[in-house]
Amino acid sequence: MSRTGNLSINSENIFPIIKKWLYSDHDIFYRELVSNGSDAITKLKKLELMGEYTKPEDMEYKVQVTVNPDDKTIAITDNGLGMTEAEVEEYINQIAFSGAQDFLEKYKDKANEDQIIGHFGLGFYSAFMVADKVTIDTLSYKEGSKPVHWESEGGLTFEMKDGEKAEQGTTITLYLNEDSYEFSNEYRAREVLEKYCSFMPVPIYLNNEKAEPQYETIEKDELTDKDTIIETIVEPAKTEEKENEKGEKETVETEPAKEKYKILKRPVALNDTTPLWSKHPNECTDEEYRDFYRKVFHDYKEPLFWIHLNMDYPFNLKGILYFPKINTEYDSIEGTIKLYNNQVFIADNIKEVIPEFLMLLKGAIDCPDLPLNVSRSALQNDGFVKKISDYITKKVADKLSGMCKTDRENYEKYWDDIAPFIKFGCIKDEKFAEKMNDYILFKNLDGKYLTLKDCLEENKEKHENTVFYVTDEKEQSQYINMFKKEGLDAVILPHSIDSPFIGHLEQKNEGLKFLRIDADLNSTFKEEVREDDEEFKKTSETLTETFKKALGNDKLEIKVEKLKDESISSMLTVSEETRRMQDMMKMYNMYGMDPSMFGGAGETLVLNANNKLVQYVLNHGEGENTNKICEQLYDLALLAHGSLSPERMTGFVARTNEIMMMLAEAK
Ligand code: ADP
Ligand code: MG
Repeated sequence: MSRTGNLSINSENIFPIIKKWLYSDHDIFYRELVSNGSDAITKLKKLELMGEYTKPEDMEYKVQVTVNPDDKTIAITDNGLGMTEAEVEEYINQIAFSGAQDFLEKYKDKANEDQIIGHFGLGFYSAFMVADKVTIDTLSYKEGSKPVHWESEGGLTFEMKDGEKAEQGTTITLYLNEDSYEFSNEYRAREVLEKYCSFMPVPIYLNNEKAEPQYETIEKDELTDKDTIIETIVEPAKTEEKENEKGEKETVETEPAKEKYKILKRPVALNDTTPLWSKHPNECTDEEYRDFYRKVFHDYKEPLFWIHLNMDYPFNLKGILYFPKINTEYDSIEGTIKLYNNQVFIADNIKEVIPEFLMLLKGAIDCPDLPLNVSRSALQNDGFVKKISDYITKKVADKLSGMCKTDRENYEKYWDDIAPFIKFGCIKDEKFAEKMNDYILFKNLDGKYLTLKDCLEENKEKHENTVFYVTDEKEQSQYINMFKKEGLDAVILPHSIDSPFIGHLEQKNEGLKFLRIDADLNSTFKEEVREDDEEFKKTSETLTETFKKALGNDKLEIKVEKLKDESISSMLTVSEETRRMQDMMKMYNMYGMDPSMFGGAGETLVLNANNKLVQYVLNHGEGENTNKICEQLYDLALLAHGSLSPERMTGFVARTNEIMMMLAEAK
């Protein structure tokens, strides 16, 4: 008996749209067909549990993918529940195809701008993305069922007739179209299957019909009835020549003869049917967590620690998030969060589900309840999806704060690595920021880790509500030394995320101010100068004049102070605001812009009126020596602050030589 029919889909609209959609990932048909096979097995297992089906003892549930690179075909076989003729009619001719049609109706207008998250919903139909002809051979598990053969060319008409399949289950065969031959290549097939199917719940085997058979040799006691023996290898007994007591040579057996077998290489499933996230956290060892990390992320650096998410209520969600070790620079942190739906891979880094800052981590999340056959923009507005995202954020904050409370030692040890991630999270997510508020640490000049509260408390008398910080310990060492000498403290904030982060803290905590250690000279360092000290005013004016002239720079900001430390001659301070503005420009890559539009470089040359060299300039006025000293003092201030421009460096070296020459000649 044979029956033909039309699939009620209009060819003019379906193919252009589906092709466009799946263009970037044609490979998705593998996922759809293998997961259909896996679903068919899961259903049969349920029937088995209910006593409605008895599995033959020697049968292993599995999905077998067989590629034939010569014929350009792929066959996907499962030994699941199979379909009767009526079921093919209903599930394939009506549901699968009408499913595709529904899908089209819904999304045809959005095909250009809107990506469909999982491409779910096309399911079986996705086979026509890569195949001109698709056949189904299926035999239902139900007693007395007859095998069915179904085929369709182009996905618009079909033919259905009695089939020949002898074992229960389903085989889908694809006759690939010219553009898709690659998928019958064994290595390509393996790559795609590993991407989508690595954690599917049923073992999946890949087989290349055209490959040379491969063999392995096993010991006699390793043989099972599933092995195909190619050859029995008899290894003769091992012997040695020895001399006996009488001095005669004798042959002694050291190892008895034994049999080995050369067998067809045993197939190995390409997936792990029980991914670590599906187990209960109490049943997982640290070693398993580390292995899983290595395997999934191919990262051979150990993760710092991890969070195992495991919940059934109010929704299903399981997963493991790893905190990777980072390479100090913010820009180089690159995480991946793999999203799964019932152990089927969906995509990496779906920002609608995973909070953006969590994508700096590495992890896998399985959420069976996710509505995946919707578009990304619909997902974005879905309250349920938002809840998932909030839950993940909450769990991460709980874990971190818990660790800070109960395992402070490790928390401090990891802090430098996890800080950029946490700070980014605080900027991005208000709720996360609130939860983490008391668990943000600041490393001070002695290498001690303090909370913001501690920092403010410790320095309350010296500078209320101000936290001094260092971004570069080498560049700012002159200031660090001054601070230490005066018993002042500062915290170290070396990361590029720190600048926006402290801005964020200042916004949230009224009155709080972060000042880089070189931003201003704190009163602790200065002698008090009375407002009406006319003499000092005069000194100040004269010095400023002289320096501006000597340096040939009228715009230079100069400030004269009486510093307690007489040995300091000149220093540079950099306005906090201007510098932050510049940091921001760098961060957003606005190099094309002129920094002066934000009010110049913000640098001030500070001269110490208590210093002998400065006094020399004051007392001698203009002259060749004075000019040299002014230039030298400016360069030294710049140097102590980091670096000199190439031109100034050249001048500095030449001048230093001249000065030394003067020293030499003076004697
Ligand atoms: P979905 O899997 O989302 O239901 P599909 O288009 O992938 O949609 O498949 C449509 C239906 O066809 C399935 O629900 C199932 O009933 C049937 N089907 C597809 N593949 C198989 C298979 N390998 N074994 C048994 N039934 C299948
Ligand atoms: Mg399906």
